[in-house]
Amino acid sequence: MVEFIPAAKPIIGDEERAAVDRVLRSGMIAQGPEVAAFEREFAEHFVNGRETAAVNSGTSGQHLGLLAAGVGAGDEVIVPSFTFAATANSVALTGATPVFVDIEPDYFTIAPDAVRAAITPRTKGIMGVHLYGHPYLVDEIDAIAQEHGLAIYEDAAQAHGASWNGRPVGTYGDFAMFSLYPTKNMTSGEGGMVTCGSAEIARNVRVLRNQGMEKQYENEVIGFNARMTDIHAAIGRVQLTKVDAWTAQRQANAAALTAGLAGLAGVQTPKVAEGAVHVYHQYTIRVDAGERDRIRQALNDEHQIGSGVYYPIPNHRLPSLTRFAPGLELPETEKAAAEVLSLPVHPSLAEGDIERIVTAMTAVLGAGA
Ligand SMILES: *Cc1c(COP(=O)(O)O)cnc(C)c1O
Repeated sequence: MVEFIPAAKPIIGDEERAAVDRVLRSGMIAQGPEVAAFEREFAEHFVNGRETAAVNSGTSGQHLGLLAAGVGAGDEVIVPSFTFAATANSVALTGATPVFVDIEPDYFTIAPDAVRAAITPRTKGIMGVHLYGHPYLVDEIDAIAQEHGLAIYEDAAQAHGASWNGRPVGTYGDFAMFSLYPTKNMTSGEGGMVTCGSAEIARNVRVLRNQGMEKQYENEVIGFNARMTDIHAAIGRVQLTKVDAWTAQRQANAAALTAGLAGLAGVQTPKVAEGAVHVYHQYTIRVDAGERDRIRQALNDEHQIGSGVYYPIPNHRLPSLTRFAPGLELPETEKAAAEVLSLPVHPSLAEGDIERIVTAMTAVLGAGA
């Protein structure tokens, strides 16, 4: 029996188990010293020591970050439609309006020209997504924001360690959110990290995550319980010591997949922009829209290889979000949603697995010709 190759696989080792045990034995498990240490270590590791605030999920981080930056009813925030729904949900949850724009086809990230065209007097900021681990076109988005006096908010959920001309994602604007969900490039079980462009925004996030309090029982504003526990932070701290090696393995796996799939008719391998460091949260190819289901099925049934489609329905077409974009058409987004296919690239792949994936894709695409 050949072993099934899953589309994603979190890696949890003895060190993570020992760290959780240490916290459990301490008897202090809610937000405390582990969270504070995780915030400092994450800041040093990824965002040049920026202010950080840990929360209980990436979505909470995005929501509280927007609230902390003063986004609310009457404001518009420009977002790509081709992303996980959390991006737009976090905007809508503040009372602001998510304004959906198209992507550019090479990197699946927010299209600068589309951003320009979507700006109105109500636009407060731009929330680009570093989708699949590839940074959005940072210089162009920065220039637009500067020209129009707009804020930058980053969705870096999938992009721990990615960078643009040496500038790490998570350092570009008012705040950025990193997700620590199990399938992301590193995990704390569930969790999120907000990296902030100012001490004020960081303080606001910390107050909002804790019922609106800095001093206990002196609630300043109406807040949430979005705290991370020390148990989760302890897992995250261990994962921080491993994530660079995992990223290097993802990049090596991606290079091997691209070499193996090069020239295979019906497949377009991922492109990387000049100046971008891609951390391959996903290794996403394009295939013929009409062939995608058959390819996925054959990979799964005949070759025991998992795959994923991120995301099959663009945000502006979702029942929950379509009211923000009645009748909107975003051609590149819709084309991508029909064509993308993510193959396993995670660091648990063995060398033989890459060969199996390439051989299977060659057989499956050849069988369809
Ligand atoms: C995972 C993800 C989120 C949300 O993060 P959670 O930790 O799952 O709440 C937001 N945006 C994108 C692009 C994501 O992939």
